[in-house]
Amino acid sequence: MKVPFFFNTKAVAGAVGAIILSTATLSYLTYRYTVGRENLVETSLVQSIINLGKQKVDRIEQRIIDNDRILSDMVDVNEPSKWPAMVDAIKKAELNVDEVYFLRPVSNYPLYPPYSYEIRNHWGAFRNSFNPRDLDLDRLTVNQTHHLHKERPDNYFFASYVLKETHSGEKILVCFQMNFEKTIELLDKNLRDLVPSYYVSVVDFENNGVYNQPISRSGKYYHETRFPSTFYKWILQIVPRNYTDIERNVRNQRRVILFFIILSMFLTFLSLAIIYAAGRRERQLRQLKEDFIGNVSHELKTPLSLIRMFSEILVTGRVKSEQTRQEYFGIIHNESDRMSRLISNLLDFAGLEREEFGKHFEKTNISQLIAKELEAYRYQIQKDGFQLSTSIDSNIPDTLADPNAIAMAFFNLLDNSVKYSGDQKQIGVKIAQANGCIDLSVTDWGIGIPASEHQKIFEKFYRCDNAAVKKIRGSGIGLSITKHVAELHGGEVLVDSEPGKGSTFTLRIPIRQAPDLANNE
Ligand code: ADP
Repeated sequence: MKVPFFFNTKAVAGAVGAIILSTATLSYLTYRYTVGRENLVETSLVQSIINLGKQKVDRIEQRIIDNDRILSDMVDVNEPSKWPAMVDAIKKAELNVDEVYFLRPVSNYPLYPPYSYEIRNHWGAFRNSFNPRDLDLDRLTVNQTHHLHKERPDNYFFASYVLKETHSGEKILVCFQMNFEKTIELLDKNLRDLVPSYYVSVVDFENNGVYNQPISRSGKYYHETRFPSTFYKWILQIVPRNYTDIERNVRNQRRVILFFIILSMFLTFLSLAIIYAAGRRERQLRQLKEDFIGNVSHELKTPLSLIRMFSEILVTGRVKSEQTRQEYFGIIHNESDRMSRLISNLLDFAGLEREEFGKHFEKTNISQLIAKELEAYRYQIQKDGFQLSTSIDSNIPDTLADPNAIAMAFFNLLDNSVKYSGDQKQIGVKIAQANGCIDLSVTDWGIGIPASEHQKIFEKFYRCDNAAVKKIRGSGIGLSITKHVAELHGGEVLVDSEPGKGSTFTLRIPIRQAPDLANNE
């Protein structure tokens, strides 16, 4: 029969390769996707912080620039008599202004308020930070507002100034010294809404906290933005508060995905290994069955050819001597006996497959049963040149058992010891009682069995893998029947064997009374 292409070894290897490749590819892509997603989360988080910083700085700057515009619009330099009222109005308005000075660009003293003993401290402090001579006045455009931001060891200085021109063309510089607390309030008003989700701080160039404590610059999501034209000596710092949680979540997600990737790969490989083992077992079984058919045919053929040969000789009447004739009849008888035992073994095996075998329990005396069986075989065994020694305990009690099954199991052990004895033609049969069981042992001093095969020999169709065994007729089902019989009786088969030294097989049957057995069935 032609094997379908998908049973072909190459096709199977290809399919296994495809499964491994697709699992590995899928796992790799999933992992790449996860890492990619993590990076995306990270990038978008960083981007959103950058945007937030920029947005806040823009808004604060815009507020100050708007303020400047209002201040500039409130000032009219043409009528000095109105300056006091103007300054009052400016100071009272919510425009963060502490002092207003009207200056001539080159003068050391203010035009307004006029220099006096009262203003000398304020003016002095103002001039310390604001010196018109330091400004590039020629490049100032009239009515355009500017800022001066300075850091001093003990305070910050922040001023807006605008160059104005009178109708007569005189240039007057108007300076607004801003209030530091109100400036911080302005920052607070604009940054407060970030505080629940972010650490927010404004620091100077020496990293002193102007608004809140300075933030460590080493954080992964740390971002800083400068104020481009107003508080240009300050820096806005932002770090998300829960970024460690975000990172932990991302890390956990990656671990979970990695775990599932490894698990799915493990399961795939495990499934492949199971499929492979099942396939191997299937192939082995097929091989064993093929061997079995070969062995059985061979076993049947040998006695059949002998029977044919000797019966033909007898039929032709060529044998003159009565003794030789008897001898030939004996051979025919023995060989047909051997065939019939083989056939009943096969039938029992078939029954065992259909679970019909060995269930006809009755009160049995195993000692008597075996003694009877031995009598039937003794002549044959001794004729084959074997010495048979027996030790049968006659006090063995009756037990519930299937006598045919026990006889078959015993025969298989006995037949094996004859077959595998080699030149050591000696067999021992012993029946004893121990620990509530009947031990039926058959011993030979033949080829023996390596320890590695002690379990396997009880498998169906199994024959030891050595040249000596291959030469001996056999089908590999005898011990599996014997084991099955033992188990049906709640017992077991023990093997004690060493290569070159011989073997002892013990069929151990528990002694049971009728109700006992009924319970068990
Ligand atoms: P078989 O028909 O091959 O004898 P069995 O099931 O009875 O089948 O035995 C299985 C295998 O166990 C045998 O092929 C043989 O290799 C090994 N074996 C069984 N009995 C003996 C023994 N007494 N001495 C050595 N080998 C044995």
